[in-house]
Amino acid sequence: MSVDAGRACALGRKAGALPAEGLSDSGPLARLRVARYANLVTNNALYATAVLCLILAVAAAVLSAKLRAARAALTEAERKLAVPPPPPPPVTVECRREAFGILWFPVLTIDERRRLVTAASVGLPHCPRCVKPMSLKPGPAGEWVCPACGEVRAGSAADIRVTDSVLGEALQEFLSRRGGGYALAEGIRAPKSAKA
Ligand SMILES: [Zn+2]
Repeated sequence: MSVDAGRACALGRKAGALPAEGLSDSGPLARLRVARYANLVTNNALYATAVLCLILAVAAAVLSAKLRAARAALTEAERKLAVPPPPPPPVTVECRREAFGILWFPVLTIDERRRLVTAASVGLPHCPRCVKPMSLKPGPAGEWVCPACGEVRAGSAADIRVTDSVLGEALQEFLSRRGGGYALAEGIRAPKSAKA
C-alpha cells in the first residue's frame, strides 16, 4: 500500500465510514449493513422491473394502434383497387319461323342480368328444302334463290312487312315462353300482342 492510500484509509476509519483497523467485517453491524444493502438492491430491482413492464405495455399499445390503422388503410386501398367483375356475356336465342314458304332463324340477344332483350335480328331467308341461306337474285324481279337447290321465292315473300312480322312473332314467342320479368330494350319494337 502506498503512503497516500494508507493515509486515505486512516482518514476513512477516523470518520467512521470504514471499520477500525483490527476490527472484523463479520460482526453484527456489518451483517446489518449487508442486509440493508441487499434490501435496497431488491427494492430497486422490483421498481425497475415495474417501470420496464409499464414502458413495454405502453409500447405494445402504441404498436397495436399503429397496426390497426395500417390494416384499415390497406383494406381501404384494396377496396379502391378492386375491379368490379365484368358483366356476364349476352346470351343469344335462335328461333325458327316459317312464312310464305321461306324459313327464318331470328336471333335474339338477351341480357340475363337485366332480363332484357337487347337486340333482335331476323337474319337471312333460308331455303325450305335444304335449309341453306338464300340469296337475292339481281334484276327487276328481285327473287330469292337457293344457291344449293335452285329453289326460287318471290321478292315480296321476304319484304320488310314479312321480316317485321317474323321478328315480332319470335319476340312474342320468347316473352311468352320465359314468362314475366323480361322486357325489350329501347329501339326494339314490341309485337302488338306480346305482354313484355
Ligand atoms: Zn335449297
